[in-house]
Amino acid sequence: MVTRAALLLLLLAQLLLAGAASSHTLAAGGARPQAAPPARRARPRCAPALDASAELRPAAEEVDPGEVAGLRVLKYPHPLLRAPNAEVTAFDEELHELSRRMFRMMYASKGVGLAAPQVGVNKRLLVFNPEGDERKMSSEYALVNPIIVDRSEGTELDDEGCLSFPGFGAKVTRAKWVKVRAFNLKGKPVNKRYAGWDARIFQHEYDHLDGTLFVDRLDEAERHLVQPDLDRLAVLHGPGGAL
Ligand code: ZN
Repeated sequence: MVTRAALLLLLLAQLLLAGAASSHTLAAGGARPQAAPPARRARPRCAPALDASAELRPAAEEVDPGEVAGLRVLKYPHPLLRAPNAEVTAFDEELHELSRRMFRMMYASKGVGLAAPQVGVNKRLLVFNPEGDERKMSSEYALVNPIIVDRSEGTELDDEGCLSFPGFGAKVTRAKWVKVRAFNLKGKPVNKRYAGWDARIFQHEYDHLDGTLFVDRLDEAERHLVQPDLDRLAVLHGPGGAL
């Protein structure tokens, strides 16, 4: 039986989780100083997890685990992040295996989403788990050849980070919800509607499949703030980058 007290506890836990989720960002972006965040983002993303949520969702900043499952996350301005991505035509074991390896990399990086071009595979495949927890397999999505068929007119501005942009994040405007048509790994059509945090992750990863990066979507002031970080990454990459 679910008691009223248990329901209240559940609600509290969900609120805490929502706070933790938004503090993660897509890949746990940076923590540069900024104006006081809204209430639900009261906890800085680099702060220790609150007790109640620690067991479920350890607070985490993105990490670069190096090579995982034979994959590496490409960093901006690697040219493959801007290269065209081909439709997937073979729903075979190789595709399953790639998806499994991408999930492993995503969890190892403390991220909540990853697109195939980020690991140097220019195909229209993305994976995400809004929970950012490999124990929550029921929240895993692997979407092939996705398209957005509808989106809200209403938008939200919130923090995002990206595993291909280590060390910082920025505020990005996204549709509040999107309707998506895609295929699962078996080639079966799937229709999804994502809202809020899930919609933000999907839109971020979907952008990767079009060679669009979250820094392309910043307003002028926000772009100005992150430009030194972009310059730093460009220097680290060396010649041949695609800005
Ligand atoms: Zn990204």
